[in-house]
Amino acid sequence: MEKRNDFLPYGHQFIDDEDIQAVVSTLRSPFLTTGPTIAEFEKAVADYVGAKYGVAFSNGTAALHGACYAAGIGESDEAITTPLTFAASANCIRYMGGTAVFADIDNKTYNIDPIDIERKITTKTKAIIPVDFTGQPADMDAIMEIAKKHNLVVIEDSAHSLGADYKGKKVGTLADMTMFSFHPVKPVTTAEGGVIVTNNEEYYEKLKLFRSHGITQTAYAEEQGAWYYEMVDLGYNYRMTDLQAALGVSQMHKLESFIERRREIAALYDELLNDVSGVGIPFQLENTKSGWHLYSIQLDSDELSKSRKEIFEEMRALNIGVHVHYIPVYWHPYYQELGYEKGICPKAEEWYEQALTLPIFPGMTDNDVADVVKALKTVVN
Ligand SMILES: *Cc1c(COP(=O)(O)O)cnc(C)c1O
Repeated sequence: MEKRNDFLPYGHQFIDDEDIQAVVSTLRSPFLTTGPTIAEFEKAVADYVGAKYGVAFSNGTAALHGACYAAGIGESDEAITTPLTFAASANCIRYMGGTAVFADIDNKTYNIDPIDIERKITTKTKAIIPVDFTGQPADMDAIMEIAKKHNLVVIEDSAHSLGADYKGKKVGTLADMTMFSFHPVKPVTTAEGGVIVTNNEEYYEKLKLFRSHGITQTAYAEEQGAWYYEMVDLGYNYRMTDLQAALGVSQMHKLESFIERRREIAALYDELLNDVSGVGIPFQLENTKSGWHLYSIQLDSDELSKSRKEIFEEMRALNIGVHVHYIPVYWHPYYQELGYEKGICPKAEEWYEQALTLPIFPGMTDNDVADVVKALKTVVN
C-alpha cells in the first residue's frame, strides 16, 4: 500500500468562517477577558447538558483543580479514579495535597469498575473521579449509588464525552460536578479551555472564587467603598478569555453535527474492521451513546504476528496518525516515586498493552476511513 500524501492525525479541530468571525468581533469589543461572552459560553454549555450552572476555566485541568477544591479534598483525603486516563484526572487530587487511589477498569467498557471502587474505599475517601473514557459514559448509576452510601463527592471527568448520552440523558447532570475540556482534539474547542457544570449552588460559588484569586466582593464593600474587595481564600488566575469563549459559543452551534459525524465514522470502522482477525473493536453498552472522542482498538498479540510497536510504526510510516491512549497513570515516574507499584490495576495494564487509537474527527472523510482500514489490514497481515 502507498503512503498517504498528507499525515492523518488521530484528532483535529474543525474551524469555519463563523468561528473566525466570532473571535474577530470579540477582538474589536471592549472585553478581551471576563466580559459578557464568558457568561454566554457558560450558559451555552450548561443549557446544552441541562445543568443549572457552568463555570469556565483556562483549561480542563484547571477546571478539575477547581472541582477538587470545591469538593473540599485536602491533605488527609483520598480520591478514587481510573488509571486509564490522561494524568490530569489524578493530578488534580495531588494539587490539593490528596492521595490518588486507582480502581481497575471493567473488561468490557474500559471504564472504571464500580465493584473495584467499593473495594478501594477507606475512611479517608472523599471523592470519586470517574472518566468517560473514549466518550462512552462511565457506569454513573452504580457510581452515584456508592457515593451516596459512603457520602462521597463525584466529579465526572467528561473531557471526552460532551454530547454523549447515558440512559437517554446528556452527560453533565449525572455527577455532582462534571468537567468538559475544550482542547482542540476534544468534541468542541476554545483552543484551551474547561468548564465545570453543576446543579449545586455552593459548588458554583466556590468554583468562581477559586478561578479568580479567591477574591470576592463582600457586604463589607458598602461600608468601605466601591473599590473594596476581599481575598477570602487562596485562589488562582484560572480565567478563560472572552476570545476563547467567543470561539466556544460558535463551536457549540456545531456540536451536534460533530457528534453525528463521529458516530458515522465509528459505525463505518465497526463495519469494516468487524471481521479482521486479531483486531478487537470497541464494545458499546446498549444504554449509552458515546461521543466517540477516540476510536481505540485492541490488538490481540496471540493472533497477530507483529507487536503493537511494529504495527504502530508501520501505520505511522504510511502517514496514518495512530496513537495510544493511555499509559496507566501510575506507571509515570512521578507516581512510581510516590510508591505506586506496577500491577495494581492488571486489567487496565493489559488493556493498555494491546491498545491502538485510530484517527477520528469530524472533518474526516469516508475515504480517509477507508485509507486507515486498508493500511491496518495491510500492516497486520
Ligand atoms: C484532555 C483531558 C483532560 C485535561 O484537559 P485540558 O483541557 O487539556 O487541560 C483531563 N482529562 C482527560 C481524560 C482528558 O482527556
